[in-house]
Amino acid sequence: MLREFKPTWMINSVYSIAPQQLKQQGIRAVFTDLDNTLIAWNNPDGTPELKQWMQSLEEADIPLIVISNNNYERVKRAVEPLALPFISRALKPLGFGIKRATRKLGLKPHEVVMVGDQLLTDMVAANQAGVYSILVKPLIETDAWNTRINRFFERYVMKQLLVQYPMLQWQEELND
Ligand SMILES: [Mg+2]
Repeated sequence: MLREFKPTWMINSVYSIAPQQLKQQGIRAVFTDLDNTLIAWNNPDGTPELKQWMQSLEEADIPLIVISNNNYERVKRAVEPLALPFISRALKPLGFGIKRATRKLGLKPHEVVMVGDQLLTDMVAANQAGVYSILVKPLIETDAWNTRINRFFERYVMKQLLVQYPMLQWQEELND
């Protein structure tokens, strides 16, 4: 049961996920949650760090796809300035969106990593789809009200995970 929530790695920030370290793991594509993972809801245009990270992925030939539960219009508006492909209404914690994107790229699940800030949606969806996963810390602490309720359960699950899997720790980067 607890296994469903377990991220493969926990990394402080999405921007510290280095393309070369992904390649060493055999990872060829990055899927990412949108809100509070890639952009903060109060800073929709993203930051210079984000653009730099996106560029480093591009140079490494690693596609980046946004997989969000938000509706088409909202996601489209958010990713348009970033020019990223996306899947909206992904129905995370179900794995369909991730599976669909994996197939579209012609990749195997073990060649994909899903990055997100929530155990209950992003990490469960990744595990459902059988891909690697990276939990990141949310870009900002305050959330929309519905996310705040999730956070309450999230804290409980996180506590259990850290007891059950003592090796699971926050890392600066993938190779720590
Ligand atoms: Mg999120």
